[in-house]
Amino acid sequence: MKVTLRTDVLTNNNKAAEFNRELFQNTKTLVMNLMSSPGAGKTTLLEETVRVLAGKYRIAVIEGDLATERDADRIRAMGARAVQINTHGGCHLDARMVAAALGELDLDEIDILFIENVGNLVCPSGYDLGQKHKVAVLSVPEGNDKIPKYPQMFMRTELVLLNKLDLLPYLDFSVEEAKRDLAEINPKSNLLPLSARTQEGMHEWFFWIEGAYLKWLQQ
Ligand code: MG
Ligand code: ZN
Repeated sequence: MKVTLRTDVLTNNNKAAEFNRELFQNTKTLVMNLMSSPGAGKTTLLEETVRVLAGKYRIAVIEGDLATERDADRIRAMGARAVQINTHGGCHLDARMVAAALGELDLDEIDILFIENVGNLVCPSGYDLGQKHKVAVLSVPEGNDKIPKYPQMFMRTELVLLNKLDLLPYLDFSVEEAKRDLAEINPKSNLLPLSARTQEGMHEWFFWIEGAYLKWLQQ
């Protein structure tokens, strides 16, 4: 099913988010909005995710970046559909940009859609894109301060992937402290330590995706 945008959808983020949500529901597309600082490793994580799950699910990725098609090219190389949104300086994706990008995807042919937001821990959390799940990616080199310093992000995400776990021996980062900080801000959220580079912990993330997809189909 190809999308035709109504003009009112383009004027208001919440209307656009509702439009997207309805479309995702009607096409049974599970959508996750991935948010993080720049350099936390979202694209590497998605490359690995596509590589492992593409044989079982039809996966697409919407890539949000200020400029370039680099991330979409990396995802395409792993065998998934990818649409690049360039925000031309804009520091977050909004639902209208996503609605416009959906015109390039046939959602009937997609089971799971990942939206990789622009690298930024501040405003992306404030924009509903119509997604089912909000997932934050944090990485070990960023240190323990990010969760307490950006509470608006972490109180709105139900899952935090702690990436680059392979760097733990070289850096002062406490996984226990991160879990405590997250539990304080958002007791319903889970922290999954993993490394997209070494694969450690990645099976937990895949397990979470598969569980979310089954739940989504049953609702
Ligand atoms: Mg679908
Ligand atoms: Zn912004």
